[in-house]
Amino acid sequence: MASKTLNVLAIFAHPDDLSFFCSGTLAKWAEQEHKIYAICVTSGNVGTLRTDLKMEEVAKMREKELRAANEILGVKETLILGYPDGGFINAPELREKLVYYVRKYKADRVVTFDPWVAYEVHPDHLVVGRMASEAAAFAAFPLLYPEQIREGVEPYACSEVWFMGLLGHPPNCFVDISQTLEKKVRAALKFEATLTLLARLFAPNIDPTRVTSEDLKTLSKHADTLLRFMASTIGEKVKLKAAEAFFVQKTLPGHFDNFQQIMLEMLGNPPEPPKIC
Ligand SMILES: [Zn+2]
Repeated sequence: MASKTLNVLAIFAHPDDLSFFCSGTLAKWAEQEHKIYAICVTSGNVGTLRTDLKMEEVAKMREKELRAANEILGVKETLILGYPDGGFINAPELREKLVYYVRKYKADRVVTFDPWVAYEVHPDHLVVGRMASEAAAFAAFPLLYPEQIREGVEPYACSEVWFMGLLGHPPNCFVDISQTLEKKVRAALKFEATLTLLARLFAPNIDPTRVTSEDLKTLSKHADTLLRFMASTIGEKVKLKAAEAFFVQKTLPGHFDNFQQIMLEMLGNPPEPPKIC
């Protein structure tokens, strides 16, 4: 039993986004009895290379995959906001919704994309990471979106934003996922649509526009290997068998609490060594 039960809100763009970067951590926190909520901003309705499916069918399939994966991970509630996939999110509208959910779930910790990463080309990842960060930092202001307060949610000061993935700032926090790696792999393999996207990387002999069930088995094996390789490579850095890495920022109302860290880094000091969290 965890000493203090935290409300964790994972905010991501597409149904499979948690699989590679943070699902082992979410499963671990769920096992420690923290409450995990997930908000998938788009329906992911263009996220396949198959040519035999319509957008609505892809959205339906991916929703089913997400719910099955999140059940394995122990996520308490999964919401899909249903924006179309591929760069059509209205950012201010999304921020208002996310502020509402930070308040409603009393989110102590938001997990999302780092919107300041290098070479991120997907507009949905950028806008979701940015709006999720803003929501975490702004949900405490009582005069912001006052109709939400009138409707019954309270302002809430979220304390931390955890950026997943390794393309931005060097990580300052590693989570040991050796006990939940199996759950992570099982959950990730639910995403058939994602497996088709891996074909180009790992199985050039497979035609991703018309995958067979045999192809999916082959691709599942590649995904399984990749996930274990990522976990052990990240873990090696900090002498763990399997890990996920994050850049964690504490929040203040309207800001991150990082002024001292930025000043030290700007003066040429190396970043603080990462912690095992
Ligand atoms: Zn994505």
